[in-house]
Amino acid sequence: MVGAERESITQRAFTGGLPADAFIDATLADIHRRYLGLDDGEVADYIPILAEADPSRFGLSLIESAGAVHEIGDADLEFSIQSISKAFVFALVCQARSTELVHERVGVNNTGLPFNSVMAIELNDGKPLNSMVNAGAIATTALMPGATSAEKWENIRSGLSRFAGRQLRLDGRVYQSEMEANQRNKALARLLESYGRIITDPLDTVDVYTRQCSLLVTAHDLAVMGATLADGGINPLTRSRVVSAEVARDTLALLASCGMYENSGEWLFEIGLPAKSGVSGGIVAIAPGKGALGTYSPRLDSAGNSVRGQRACFHISRALGMNLFASNAVERPWKG
Ligand code: GLN
Repeated sequence: MVGAERESITQRAFTGGLPADAFIDATLADIHRRYLGLDDGEVADYIPILAEADPSRFGLSLIESAGAVHEIGDADLEFSIQSISKAFVFALVCQARSTELVHERVGVNNTGLPFNSVMAIELNDGKPLNSMVNAGAIATTALMPGATSAEKWENIRSGLSRFAGRQLRLDGRVYQSEMEANQRNKALARLLESYGRIITDPLDTVDVYTRQCSLLVTAHDLAVMGATLADGGINPLTRSRVVSAEVARDTLALLASCGMYENSGEWLFEIGLPAKSGVSGGIVAIAPGKGALGTYSPRLDSAGNSVRGQRACFHISRALGMNLFASNAVERPWKG
């Protein structure tokens, strides 16, 4: 976003709650209409089956912490969650084991390099740096409780389902397609093993990681999952606790610095929200205490982030006062 377009959208401050329902609905409808015709970017094809996605699809969902649902377009269309799973597996592992463990074994700093970088590991003495890039995500999946890979997988599937408030299912075709094309992730796992960073079987761990990436979600699901993190770990629709408020906070801090890969700084500067994207075209963006946005549009930019999704998040964050850094001066009547 540059120049005139950046400033053409009125910036509402984060201070206070979200605007009235009718305003939110009208804003989503306007944004959906505005960006529907935008066809910049390319659908991912390094996992062959992802190339079959229909690039015209575009869905937006905003779910408030209090439970209100606002949606437009293809908000109920299923797609594989891909890298967005990393955010929620990180939270589940922190909850089940400890945040300190993940901090120590994986790290919480941005790599500044692409999501599947080998160099990031080499430059940092084998430390994968954060759970949002592939190497760190594989190392995080390895820390999931479970005596066998099947148990780890079941813990991930049921945990992500609690975030979504419904049973998520695996897309077998996506899983197969990625397993045939994920030599790089297998190499990353072997490299981590060589540095003693994972102690489980590397190829079994990549298998579980690939399954977690192949779970089907919708933009609606992403918004529910994000709104759970926005609501101190309680799912706003089922009202059941998924993770502690501390884990929700730590997950959001990590997403703010690492969720959008090497574009995380630019994203935070423009949109001001912790977020996570995936190569199938989803984005979840979270406004703590307010709610979360889920977007779906499969055309990506060069970092692997959805082009229309980013535009929509920018516009929504600005128009609805979701940018964490935008404040209004408080009233100070007592100061005379
Ligand atoms: N499953 C994908 C991979 O490992 C996820 C990547 C992504 O969404 N950026 O390459």
